[in-house]
Amino acid sequence: MGNLNTQKTLILNSTFQPLSLATPQRALSLLLDKKINVLKESNNELRSVNQSILIPKVGVLTYYVKAPYARRVALNRENIFIRDSFCCQYCGNASESIDHIIPKSKGGSHEWSNVVACCKKCNLLKADKLLNKTILKLKKIPNTPEGNFWIKAIIGNNPDPDWMEYLITA
Ligand SMILES: [Zn+2]
Repeated sequence: MGNLNTQKTLILNSTFQPLSLATPQRALSLLLDKKINVLKESNNELRSVNQSILIPKVGVLTYYVKAPYARRVALNRENIFIRDSFCCQYCGNASESIDHIIPKSKGGSHEWSNVVACCKKCNLLKADKLLNKTILKLKKIPNTPEGNFWIKAIIGNNPDPDWMEYLITA
């Protein structure tokens, strides 16, 4: 059994950017409606009325879809950890919490550019201080995730190996 994702189809936009994951039924209907072209087939068979079809592992849309705003990456702990590769952005250790670079108590906002993954130790050192009042230094400027980030969040850490070549971020 293992990964539920192995049953799913990676759908690419007509620009070949990853767009979503589709269930076998959804993939089949896209295929029969000629809305996708198959880039890779799986071994999973689905039967329609008079034929059996191999479910695609990767399909590309025959038309362009404008990704809706709803697909902006939600600002939450899990996604911050993913953006920061589960590393404390001050020391590189495993992340355990979130730090507001400019503390909320000092007017810092809750937005991508002001939050980083952080370990407990650095979080204690940082406390309610501004960064320049501590010995801590940011490893990189935190940015707002764009592009393919959100699909990585959907797919998680165990993408189907057959998808890999299509998941490369720009
Ligand atoms: Zn740290």
